[in-house]
Amino acid sequence: MKIMRSVAQLQEALGGQHSIGFVPTMGFLHEGHASLLEQARAENDIVVLSIFINPTQFGPNEDLDRYPRDETRDQQLAQSAGVDYLFYPTNEVMYPLDMARVTVRSGDDVLCGASRPGHFDGVLTVVSKLFNIVRPTRAYFGLKDAQQLALIEGYVADYFVPVEIKRCPIIREADGLAKSSRNVYLSDREREQAPGIQQALVEAKQALDQGQPLETVLEKTRTLLQFEGAAIDYAEAVAYPTLGPVDATTETILLAVAVQFESARLIDNLLYTRGA
Ligand code: AMP
Repeated sequence: MKIMRSVAQLQEALGGQHSIGFVPTMGFLHEGHASLLEQARAENDIVVLSIFINPTQFGPNEDLDRYPRDETRDQQLAQSAGVDYLFYPTNEVMYPLDMARVTVRSGDDVLCGASRPGHFDGVLTVVSKLFNIVRPTRAYFGLKDAQQLALIEGYVADYFVPVEIKRCPIIREADGLAKSSRNVYLSDREREQAPGIQQALVEAKQALDQGQPLETVLEKTRTLLQFEGAAIDYAEAVAYPTLGPVDATTETILLAVAVQFESARLIDNLLYTRGA
């Protein structure tokens, strides 16, 4: 595995490669990231991993300054996942002039977009920059961040970006908690409460399977998400991947939740295909 810190160095190494699989991350890698890397490894000649904590996707009161980092452990995981090139840009490398940014037009008025104004503009800006640097054949994103994935798919379609976007399943801890770099923030008590998020989603799926109305299911989900000392940020359903309202014609529903614990905000979701 080679570590690259400059755009020119990386682009020179990648010139003439047959197929490039790309996994953009913010580091502090876990098995969720590893699963994306394994899929990229299986489907491409070259695998590129980027680790960049992108400042423009953090709000003023968010965790940019304390976002967890561990370069040594990340490099070990990347090496064992078969990464060829690990790209570690700095803010100066990624935002040389900062004269232009990508703006989301629709789909960021719900879920995380509603709670984190400007977040997805920052995400699409950095993803667009990284796509132009790496020029991947395929790029791998987790359904853990289902709204982000849908917005990236929308951006790629609207801008005719020549990349294939791959949706990867959510990887969980043994007790059901979705793996996340931010799980490290949780206190012991919060860590015990957190698997309840997925339990609420499992119950929601059962209720939808039984044909219960969506609003009833959402109300029950909100009840199940009431953990002591935590607040529900949202528990909502939207059509997927349009992120518009669910109506009678909606085939796939994204039931997404965010819970604000004292020490971390956790998200999880269920993609539910009607009649499947
Ligand atoms: P992050 O480092 O949190 O920005 O995540 C980088 C990529 O890994 C994104 O595409 C995430 O959706 C994906 N990812 C994060 N956690 C998981 C998980 N538990 N399962 C699958 N993919 C994940």
